[in-house]
Amino acid sequence: MNNKQFQTFLRQISSLNYSQLKQLRHSSDTQISSNIVGQAISDREETISACPHCDSKKLNRWGMTKQGIQRFRCKSCNKTFNALSGTPLYRMRKPEKWLKYTQLMWQGVPLRKAASELDINLRTSFRWRHVFLKKPSKAGCNKLTGIIEADETFIPESFKGRKVIARKARKRGGGDTDKVPVFMALDRSGDITHKVLERDTKEELELALKPLLASSSVLCTDGNLSYKSIVKDLDIDHKRLIALDNQRVIYGIYHIQTLNNYMMRWKTWLNRFHGVGTAYLENYLSWFRFMEQHAAQVEQDWIKAAL
Ligand SMILES: [Zn+2]
Repeated sequence: MNNKQFQTFLRQISSLNYSQLKQLRHSSDTQISSNIVGQAISDREETISACPHCDSKKLNRWGMTKQGIQRFRCKSCNKTFNALSGTPLYRMRKPEKWLKYTQLMWQGVPLRKAASELDINLRTSFRWRHVFLKKPSKAGCNKLTGIIEADETFIPESFKGRKVIARKARKRGGGDTDKVPVFMALDRSGDITHKVLERDTKEELELALKPLLASSSVLCTDGNLSYKSIVKDLDIDHKRLIALDNQRVIYGIYHIQTLNNYMMRWKTWLNRFHGVGTAYLENYLSWFRFMEQHAAQVEQDWIKAAL
């Protein structure tokens, strides 16, 4: 459509009634979604160079799937596959709704509401959430470098979503028995790591943090003595910010406010779900990290990340 036609078309929109506007919105959502999903799939097609079954490089194009995805056939083992084979999206139906679904995830819309909004059933809604969460939750961070901030935060323990309640004592000092410790660390280049701990002990903190510390880094923490002992034999400059409100800053750059702000945003977002089962906390941490790191184009990246 040329620009003149398009301007005429736009002017006509104002004469549509409510029900027509809703149909128009549905139709353009579907178009945009299939474009973005289609683009992500076709980008992936470009990278296919070998058969996923036998690794042979002799491939033929072999028609299209019902969803319009290029199918390939291997000349060596005669098996067929497509760009989604081996990804969590393989055999997932209704690609025109994936994009909208990822938008609802971003907004923290509950499963049931997402299901009714997209006219899919609750089981599908649940399955899709986990398909889109799968890769981001595996994508850990390899190394923290430069100025690193580390701290723990606590979330009320919850057995939501569990059929069998196998209560493990999460006893800590001070009689604080119903909170789950969550360790987080980040560096100023945007790498973030997190771990749900059984207990807030030096041993568990060490397991979560030590392998990630690049040498010659600067580690900023609060006064927790565990950190002091973790970096004892390492080539790490440790800045301990000892103040009741953690607001202390050394030389204007050594502080843990970036991390504390991040933790606060995570908790605020978590509140939308009205209590998250402790068993799923890791997923919600990964999900949030993914959104923060991909904020500019989060929907496209959800689709790409699942591939
Ligand atoms: Zn093959």
